[in-house]
Amino acid sequence: MGQKTNNHIARGEYGRHELYINYVCKPIIYFLHLQCMDNSRLPKLCYRMMFKMNEHGRINWCSKVQRQLFSNEFGVVWENQGVGDTKLFMNLFKQRLKDINLQTWSDYIGNSSKCAFYSKVKDYVCINENIQKLSYNLRYEFLSIICSNHKLALKKGRHENQPRENRLCKICNTNEIEDEFNVVLVCPILADIRRNILPK
Ligand SMILES: [Zn+2]
Repeated sequence: MGQKTNNHIARGEYGRHELYINYVCKPIIYFLHLQCMDNSRLPKLCYRMMFKMNEHGRINWCSKVQRQLFSNEFGVVWENQGVGDTKLFMNLFKQRLKDINLQTWSDYIGNSSKCAFYSKVKDYVCINENIQKLSYNLRYEFLSIICSNHKLALKKGRHENQPRENRLCKICNTNEIEDEFNVVLVCPILADIRRNILPK
């Protein structure tokens, strides 16, 4: 995948969620760990002190934990200051973050003009097993098309502020816009190449 590939598309192809999910989970795990700690332990005493300060409007580590729990609809965990099963809760919490992340990703892919073609071929953050089965060269070319990492007139014209309707295919006379759809399925000049690659 090229270096200039859109971040959202790259994440979609590699099946990766944003790293902030791990970053958000760690303090929550520590918060739950603190709740099980003996009241005489120094970290617990510090926590109680910060908890009281937070109640009086001082922004500190507790405020951030509280905000994360409430913003992800787990405010009850803050109010109860703990959960029964930490492992089960953390699985739920992480899944909630992934779901929100996927929703944000889908909204971006669906609304961005740069991802217009990608949104038609992919709707989930995951590795496509079928693409992995292709040879390296074919996989590279295929991903270049899917990920808009190409030099077709549609993309080149965008950088040159050319009106979309003028970004036509230069190798045939069909007056079609030279976009991914045109290369993969329409342009008659590429019919021979297409016949050798695409399944019947
Ligand atoms: Zn053409």
